[in-house]
Amino acid sequence: MKSKADIGLIGLAVMGENLVLNMESKGYTVAVYNRTVEKVDNFVNGRGKGKNFIGAHSLEELVTSLERPRKVMMLVKAGQPVDDFIEQLIPLLEPGDIIIDGGNSHFPDTIRRTKLVEEKGLLYIGTGVSGGEEGALLGPSMMPGGSPEAWPYVKEIFQAVAAKVEDGSPCCDWVGENGAGHFVKMVHNGIEYGDMQIINEAYHLMKELLGMDAFEQHEVFKKWKSGRLDSYLIEITADILAYKDEDGSPLVEKILDTAGQKGTGKWTAVSALDLGIPLTLIGESVFSRCLSAQKELRVKASGVIAGKKPAFKGDKQQFIGDLEQALYGAKIISYAQGYDLMMEAAKEYKWNLNYGGIALMWRGGCIIRSVFLGDIKKAFDKNPGLENLLLDPFFKESIESVQESWRRVCATAIENGIPVPALTSALSYFDGFRNDRLPANLLQAQRDYFGAHQYERVDKPRGQFFHTDWTGRG
Ligand code: NAP
Repeated sequence: MKSKADIGLIGLAVMGENLVLNMESKGYTVAVYNRTVEKVDNFVNGRGKGKNFIGAHSLEELVTSLERPRKVMMLVKAGQPVDDFIEQLIPLLEPGDIIIDGGNSHFPDTIRRTKLVEEKGLLYIGTGVSGGEEGALLGPSMMPGGSPEAWPYVKEIFQAVAAKVEDGSPCCDWVGENGAGHFVKMVHNGIEYGDMQIINEAYHLMKELLGMDAFEQHEVFKKWKSGRLDSYLIEITADILAYKDEDGSPLVEKILDTAGQKGTGKWTAVSALDLGIPLTLIGESVFSRCLSAQKELRVKASGVIAGKKPAFKGDKQQFIGDLEQALYGAKIISYAQGYDLMMEAAKEYKWNLNYGGIALMWRGGCIIRSVFLGDIKKAFDKNPGLENLLLDPFFKESIESVQESWRRVCATAIENGIPVPALTSALSYFDGFRNDRLPANLLQAQRDYFGAHQYERVDKPRGQFFHTDWTGRG
């Protein structure tokens, strides 16, 4: 074992433990520290026994055990603990040393911390790490941003531990300055909300409209897994639907229908509102979780408010085929909207984002990994200046080809009183996006009527503003 470690890690919880085991398995020596110090010895003498780990019982010990420039990675609870560790580390480090935050920090915090750390002559990286426990151990998707000068020092180790796609490319590359890595990880999580929501809507339709039980639905998801919806989330959904409880019935039906959330979907939607980007599918996905959480109110309402009872009249197999197309169409919209948000953020925060690289980082190792992301990568490889995913020839043709099925699914769901907020809002976005004239002319007239907000005219150059005395009362 080397006398000095290649990298230090603070935080021996689920993510930290697995990530350091991954690093060690790639030939790196890792120094480890944890606030509750017993966990250091437990780890070094347990899962880490006989491996290249240096156990540190204080931050001072951790720092002195590192090769220069020192790289100290935190995988601790997001929020105040990250600020506290930065404060404690700063006096222990020397110019050029690198502090890395691998937790789910909110990007404005990472922007602030990068500035603070750089002002002290140190370098900072805020990196998204996705893939949960298994990803951390076997290869996560990693999205690093921060001080660009730090990247050459961590590139090798990050890319060694990251997931790899079929051709061996690592699912990790430099994302951009200050908070860019955590922003991209946040959008990843928002897209995860969206992918989960459209799958849930498909499940709801098959159950309530087609009367299919979980085991029958398992067969459908298994088939979808070998088609263009092939993704980790489709795969685990197939597994979940087949899982039997002790009495042999599907466990999924015994789970309370109230969704939890940790806030990254909300952050994505709030960021879209701040930047003025129509991120409708992810927004609906967050609100759907909120509605599901109002369980008691829904139970009360269900006994009081009458509504349509589902009664399917069509061809079941054709509807399942339509559903697959509808999911594909909505998925294209979700990613188009997510990329739209990243493009606007790049302008706002002056990040030079590599959009194809982001698709590659999400292509493996993370929760939204899918075949689909390979097509997004190709779209940006062909045209790095692509303004919107829907303008790429492949996605344009794909979405055109699924729209009739998608409309049938939405219309049938609405007629039968089954909520499909993500599928329908994505379709409305699509219809709005491809329409060169929306009713905002009337809206502008209304604003001018009640607030003298002025309007531009289609028969006059842009930038000239007009006001009308709509009532003649002056
Ligand atoms: P976690 O439960 O978020 O955090 C536990 C770690 O944080 C422990 O090392 C704990 O130390 C330390 N900690 C907590 N409060 C502290 C405080 N006030 N001061 C100092 N240290 C404190 O761990 P995790 O699930 O492994 O996640 C680590 C980070 O990765 C988080 O930001 C999380 O959001 C992110 N993440 C997690 C997953 C996942 O699947 N779990 C996936 C992606 C990203 P003690 O042992 O002393 O309590």
